[in-house]
Amino acid sequence: MGRRPPAEPFHARVERSLRDTFLRVAVPAATRRFHLTRRHALAELGEPLRWRQLARAIRAHTIANLDRYLAQAADAVEARGGRVHWALDAAAAVEAVLSIARAAGVRRVVKSKSMVTEELELNRWLEAEGIEVVETDLGEYIIQLDGDSPSHIIAPAVHKTREQVRQLFSRLAGQELPDDAQALTDFARRRLREKFLSADMGISGANFVVAETGHVVLVTNEGNGRMVTSLPRVHVAVMGMERVVPTWEDLAVLLEVLPRSATGQKLSVYTSITGGGPAPAGEGDGPQEFHLVIVDNGRSRLLGTRYQEGLHCIRCGACLNACPVYREIGGHAYGGVYSGPIGAVITPLLEGFDGWEELPHASSLCGACHEACPVLIPLHDLLVDLRSDEADQERAGRWEVLAFRAYRWLCERPWAYRWAARAAAALQRPLEEAGWLRGGPGPLKAWTEGRDFPAVAARTFRDRWRDLAAGEGDGQ
Ligand code: SF4
Repeated sequence: MGRRPPAEPFHARVERSLRDTFLRVAVPAATRRFHLTRRHALAELGEPLRWRQLARAIRAHTIANLDRYLAQAADAVEARGGRVHWALDAAAAVEAVLSIARAAGVRRVVKSKSMVTEELELNRWLEAEGIEVVETDLGEYIIQLDGDSPSHIIAPAVHKTREQVRQLFSRLAGQELPDDAQALTDFARRRLREKFLSADMGISGANFVVAETGHVVLVTNEGNGRMVTSLPRVHVAVMGMERVVPTWEDLAVLLEVLPRSATGQKLSVYTSITGGGPAPAGEGDGPQEFHLVIVDNGRSRLLGTRYQEGLHCIRCGACLNACPVYREIGGHAYGGVYSGPIGAVITPLLEGFDGWEELPHASSLCGACHEACPVLIPLHDLLVDLRSDEADQERAGRWEVLAFRAYRWLCERPWAYRWAARAAAALQRPLEEAGWLRGGPGPLKAWTEGRDFPAVAARTFRDRWRDLAAGEGDGQ
């Protein structure tokens, strides 16, 4: 059990995304909007860097003491009458949810947006048990109806046009719906309300679980999280084990930076805090059963390694919005549940390199992701470390290995380096166009098709330096 890498190779996925004309317009437009509003919203805080440093310190302390805070959170949930299930891997997490559903005779589940349940492919396993599963976040609902997968952590359907959604909903309605966002949203709301009212179980993620009291915190903009956690008789919250926060004071800091970094809001429209246990006797609202499933699924392997900082992530999506690569290729090209820079880091860490070895290279290493990250994760450094690990495991391609061996050989022999620089300047002439190389054989062609490759200078640095030192020429 667990996600398999897509059968389509990474470069083919990228090619397909680059040919998608709507995606090439919609994704940059949405991500730029998020990116700009994020800057304003953080600036409003005053001293945004200090807030981010504080948020980072909270995450670093929490992850460094994860065993302690998870145990505290679990005790608090159980003290409130909830049940805690520890899941070492995806299979254990799925089995925990299935056994809760079986015991409660569940036939219909409503879900709020949860990346960890995507990671577990939970819907597929519930449906295999004959249970109807309905995603209730509007973007996730669209994705589910279309048999698609999310392409952004916080905007899962960012790659869909309104016309695509209209056609999808029209098929469901059995009649043509108008090309009007409000009408389409009203249609979804009516459909989902029926599902909320008749569901036996609600499954949510958890943006945070407060260790000192066991409360589950959901940050949403649609209110569906509240319905999922309060209307059905059973509520199951599935959390990645890193989503714990020690205290309410710590939560207050993270809630200052999360919505601002995600959507540029001071506070999301709904920040729901659920009791971390069943509704007290005599209370009209709330579930009769509450379960918290704490999912490891590879996360504990990162503890104590240089990748531990990957667990600091609060899933705001700001690194996706800042990333020049994500903006061009969108989320599906990455192939995993998590896309963008954080996906390129954690997917190979959680799933292993097999099938994901290209992801650490899907970055220009410009550092824009680090600049945007509210908890200051050095994503670009982690990507370099992953590339280094790949090289240590001898996973690099044959051409890359040969090229770097040749480069090392040259760098160790100054006479050969000088000779090669002069030879390259002469040999490149057929490929040179206005200071750039175009085309070329083998891997050079692959590179120049997608990236700029500056031509080797006609005169070497050493020649220019020697002339300058001799007072001859202008160094050109
Ligand atoms: S790595 Fe940082 S910027 Fe990216 S989703 Fe996580 S917290 Fe947000």
